[in-house]
Amino acid sequence: MELPRIVFATRNPGKVREIAQLLDGHFEVVGLDEIGCREDIPETAPTIEGNAVQKAEYVKRHYGVDCFADDTGLEVDALGGDPGVLTARYGGPEKDAVANMRKLLGAMEGMEDRGAQFRTVIALTSNSGTRTFEGICRGTIAAQRSGEDGFGYDPLFEPEGTGRTFAEMDAKEKNAISHRGKAVRAMVEELRSFG
Ligand code: IMP
Repeated sequence: MELPRIVFATRNPGKVREIAQLLDGHFEVVGLDEIGCREDIPETAPTIEGNAVQKAEYVKRHYGVDCFADDTGLEVDALGGDPGVLTARYGGPEKDAVANMRKLLGAMEGMEDRGAQFRTVIALTSNSGTRTFEGICRGTIAAQRSGEDGFGYDPLFEPEGTGRTFAEMDAKEKNAISHRGKAVRAMVEELRSFG
């Protein structure tokens, strides 16, 4: 039996694999390369949800396929929700993780309120329209980096109740509590009810 196909607007094979596993044989998940989409998809919206919707709807409009796209931001309480939509390029246009973390530690120097959250929005576009799914992971920003695993701000982010940073966890442990894991599971539940 042929599985229904859905496109994930990403060029990261690791992300495609992770979601394909969660969909557990109900859908065939493919990335942008498999549909011949080689251009950079615009991400110019002023919000995380806006960018997720923009990416998913771009693929639907130009390639005529059902699609989902994700976008994530780090929202720091004491910084009024910054870096938010600028998370990837907070420390400069080269999107360097070390520069991003250095800028964040500088901005939070001396601050007592270290509360923050990662927030992922996934937009799913099909013939019946666009729906969004959200996943939030609350935690705190550590005073210094710890751990070697993961990517981005992982060495600085301590999820609530763990006493360790994401960079001190393996992928399985992180996925079980992470923003992206929660958003993906919310979408998977919806897709499975169709598949
Ligand atoms: P994206 O929307 O998944 O590309 O995420 C935007 C930016 O947020 C990335 O470039 C990272 O800097 C940061 N980010 C997203 N998810 C994570 C995470 O799980 N850990 C640490 N940083 C993350």
